[in-house]
Order: sequence, then C-alpha cells, then structure tokens
Amino acid sequence: SYRKGGYHAVRVGDMFSGGRYIAQRKLGWGEFSTVWLAYDSQTSKYVALKIQKSAREFAQSAIHEIEVVSALTKHDPENKKCVIRLVDHFKHRGPNGQHFCMVFEFLGDSILQLIKYNRYKGLPLNKVRDICRCILTALDYLHRQLGIIHTDLKPENILLVSTINPSNDPIRSKTSPILSKPEGGMNNGSRYVSNSIEKKLKQRARLAVARIISRRASLGGVRPVTKTDRCLDGIDFRCKVVDFGNACWANRPIADEIQTRQYRAPEVILQSGYSYSADMWSFACTAFELATGEMMFAPKIGQGISEDEAHLALMMEMLGKIPRKIAVGGVRSKDYFDRYGDLKRIRRLKHCPLTCLLTDKFKFSVNDARDFADFLIPILDFAPEKRPTARQCLQHPWLNKSSEFNAQNVDSQMSKLQIK
Ligand code: ATP
Ligand code: MG
Ligand code: MG
Repeated sequence: SYRKGGYHAVRVGDMFSGGRYIAQRKLGWGEFSTVWLAYDSQTSKYVALKIQKSAREFAQSAIHEIEVVSALTKHDPENKKCVIRLVDHFKHRGPNGQHFCMVFEFLGDSILQLIKYNRYKGLPLNKVRDICRCILTALDYLHRQLGIIHTDLKPENILLVSTINPSNDPIRSKTSPILSKPEGGMNNGSRYVSNSIEKKLKQRARLAVARIISRRASLGGVRPVTKTDRCLDGIDFRCKVVDFGNACWANRPIADEIQTRQYRAPEVILQSGYSYSADMWSFACTAFELATGEMMFAPKIGQGISEDEAHLALMMEMLGKIPRKIAVGGVRSKDYFDRYGDLKRIRRLKHCPLTCLLTDKFKFSVNDARDFADFLIPILDFAPEKRPTARQCLQHPWLNKSSEFNAQNVDSQMSKLQIK
C-alpha cells in the first residue's frame, strides 16, 4: 500500500507541517492511514499524527473525519466528554501524493488490548462500570448535543487515556524526544536507548495489568471477588471514544450497511432504518465483552446459511424471538424471515437467556448476573425506539452502584469457605 494513492512512508525523525511535528514511532495503522507518535515542538507535547492515504476517496474521508472531530472538539472546551480531541490538521505532500494529516491528543492502548492482556477473561465489574460511564458520556454528547451517530463503536475504538504518557513519565522524560533524523538510520544510539526504555515500560505496564487481573482465582464457582479486584480499584480507568471516520449526522445517514459485524444492530441487518439507538446496541455488545472477555454475538458462516441469518439466530437465542412486525419490516427481511416471522433456514434455536449465560458460562454470582442483565437487556430491545438513550443509561442503578465488591465482601466469602 506504500504506492501512489496509498500510505505515506514515514521514518523516525521526519518533520511535518513546516517542522512543527517530528515523527517518533509508529502507533498503529488502519485501512485508511498510519498513525505515528510525534513530538509537537511548538507545545513540547507528544501527539498522535494520523497520515491518511492519498487517493481521492481517502482524502474525501479525511475531510469528513476532520469535519466531525472539529465539531467534537469545538463543543467540548473543557475536555469532559470522553471523545478524542483534534489538535490540528494539514496536508503533507510526499512521493505517493498529497496526504491529509490529523493531529490528535496522544492516547493509550485500546480496551480490546486490555481484554487481550487479561487473556480474554473479562475485567472486574467495577472497571467495566468505569469504562461504560465514559462511553455513555461520549454517546450522550454525540447523540444529544451534536446529532452524530458514531456507527462503529467497539472495543478497538475505545482508547485508554494514556497513563504512560512519554511526556510526563519520569523514566522516559530523561531521554529527550528525537528532534531530527537519526544519522545512519534506525540503529543510531539515542534511538536505540529510547526504544528499549519504551519497550520495557510498556512491557511492565502490560504485565502489571495482566498479572493483576488474571490472578483472580475462582471462589466456589462464583465469579471471583478477590484482592486483585481491590488492587485494580485504585486505578482509574478513563477512556475516550475514537475513530470518527465513519460517523455521520443522524439526518444525513452515511450508508445502508454500518457497524462492524459483531456489534451490528438488527435494524441494520434488516435494513429498516437506523438512528442513535444503533450505537446503543453496539455499546451493550461492548459492555458484555468487557465483562466476559468474549464477543456477545460472533456469527459464523456455514452450510448455506448466511452470516446475517446466523447472527439473527444468535440474537434470538439470547433475547427471545424478534417480534413479527419488526422481523418482516425491513428491506432485507424476505432474505431471512418467512411471513410468520420465523427464520427461513434455521428452525431450531437453543434458548439461552443472558442471566443463565453469565452465571453458567462466565461464573457470575446470581446477583451480579441479574444486575448486569437488568442493565443490558433494555438496551438490546429489538425495537430501536424502545432502547434507552445514553442519558437514560447513565441514570441506571447498575452504573451508579459504587464498588460493591469491597474488602468486607471478599473477606466474608473467604471466611464462609473456610468454615465449610
Ligand atoms: P480504521 O480502518 O480502523 O478506520 P483508520 O485508518 O481510520 O483505521 P484509526 O483507527 O483512527 O485509523 O487509527 C489506527 C490505529 O492507530 C488505532 O487502532 C490505534 O492503535 C492508533 N491510534 C489512533 N489514534 C490514536 C491516538 N490518539 N493515540 C494513540 N494511538 C492512536
Ligand atoms: Mg480504527
Ligand atoms: Mg477510521
């Protein structure tokens, strides 16, 4: 993809925007862009520099993303709304063409990475609540204040607010940023040093999180409440919603097919029209994944059954039958449902309600399972207009429960076990 119309090749020390930004290392990439950690020599801060592919369609998409994130930043002067901030944008000419560049605040790992460090076991519910509160704050802001639908909410697009920010980390700040192209390529001395320190730092942070979370031993088949949960209690997980490349204003829908497969709402599959509530569906899927480490709906294609139909079947196994009127009401309904509202190709569904799944498979306590399901189920209503809004969800008792698993809880469970 590093050819005309594609990515711009960047080397450590490359300068952008008349020398203001200096490339430090690659942070990630996507279908549209590469993203680099850069040093902003004007503010002496680190930033994330997103360099878009140069072809026309990517330029168009960058213009759109800049329009959306500019609005987000402009209406949130106090930086309280849990959405990514745009610092600057400009164009950069390179051998592969002209690239739109966006400069964002530098954030940390995605919550998908957090789930991975935890070996897909699910985070303590207190942490899930923290993260849910951030996401809902962002969604309420987008939906109610700006009229924007994100359309691609998922763990990969929620980034932690960086705690190991290279600009305020004591170890890292001893090594100064790379201010010019290293002589003799990447093996230049200073680069080598900062690289290894950074690796160590990252590794240490990962190990700490992984160790802390994965050490939760099971207590009598009930989802564990342990010392570890208490350790994590001290860490304030703040995060922000990112990747607004596909976001749209609700009155200007962007495409018929939105959202990443596993987070896609039923009305999008059936093409019966979508709005803000489609983001709420993705939110519920994301919250489930955070708490359990597994995707809520992960349809597979097989034996002449489409991914869409398999997906609808999974939804009905967990949430019950889709009301006939909704099932047959979309442009694509005839592909999947007969006129009675039954799936055409999948006849036998294994009913598996959320609370049972949480207790049986994921070892939640009965109370935790009931409370969490009570929060999620209304958001997974097949009728989009019946789903609660982000604002309403923020009022839900589950979110406002202050950490229920405290030391006393753990100790009393422990002593019960010992008595037995
Ligand atoms: P996609 O195909 O997902 O739309 P994209 O080309 O639009 O990709 P982004 O998803 O915006 O690119 O960013 C690519 C990756 O860069 C992210 O997954 C993340 O790892 C990293 N990244 C993006 N923004 C930041 C940031 N502000 N701070 C730190 N890392 C970031
Ligand atoms: Mg992305
Ligand atoms: Mg994108």
